[in-house]
Amino acid sequence: MDRAAHLRKDAAWLSQAMQHENSRFLPLSDGRSLVNIQGTPRPCMLDSARVRDIGVTGDRLTFLGLWEDRATFAFEALDSEMDALAEHGEFMDLYSLAYSLDANTSAVLGYARAVMLWQQRHPHCSRCGESVNFEFGGHVLACSNPDCGKHQFPRLDPAIIVLVEDGERCLLGRQATWPAQRYSTIAGFVEPGESLEDAVIREVYEETGVRVHSPRYHSSQPWPFPSSLMLGFYATASSTEIRLIDEELEDARWFTREELTSQTIKLPPSLSISYRLIQAWHDAGSDTPLTEVRAW
Ligand SMILES: [Zn+2]
Repeated sequence: MDRAAHLRKDAAWLSQAMQHENSRFLPLSDGRSLVNIQGTPRPCMLDSARVRDIGVTGDRLTFLGLWEDRATFAFEALDSEMDALAEHGEFMDLYSLAYSLDANTSAVLGYARAVMLWQQRHPHCSRCGESVNFEFGGHVLACSNPDCGKHQFPRLDPAIIVLVEDGERCLLGRQATWPAQRYSTIAGFVEPGESLEDAVIREVYEETGVRVHSPRYHSSQPWPFPSSLMLGFYATASSTEIRLIDEELEDARWFTREELTSQTIKLPPSLSISYRLIQAWHDAGSDTPLTEVRAW
């Protein structure tokens, strides 16, 4: 999707796009997307005539961007609209849909989910408490009090996720609530005033007692549950003794590549950045890709 952020400020263009017959509209309800579940699940995309018919007004629409060159909007459905929307599909959580949608569609629904939840959770100005209105296509919440006028922007919660390596071994941990035998990379939220690199060093120590150096950025993944951005790193161990200092993890261990390919541990879901970090580390030191020796 082209977010076409420059068009958010173009009120005339937005107004015209809201009426246009080619535009598409994604209904959401409390973070869930309306999905046609006949056959392969796919998101319901209503046209402008249907949206008008249901009674959705322009001040409730969020402009997501241009998807396949068509203006695409999202809106939060009201209780009174549920019966009409039920003719099109069911509201479903992205979590349960992710594996049946293609990556682009998942990304668009995740983006819509994050923006809608932010709007829902910030119905009042954070400075003066008055109500807020959508501006810039729904990407700004503007205070309705003219003496205040504060603009609120969508918030993101950065979190680091890190694969710690010690030569031929990597460090993985598990939380007590996870499925049995599942292990994953170490993760935690970045604190105010902290660099990503310092967050890597702190989190690994707090959760495992292992000291690391040389954090190296790998890749990122939005995680709109509700507003995280996962920033993936590698880091090198300078100590190897494991102590579960903050008790966030139930267990942490060092694993060799051979142990990762054995069936005695479960790895994170293949769509997750944690899997991607583990896979890249494994494949860098193995003739056989991880995906060939493990099936999910
Ligand atoms: Zn205000």
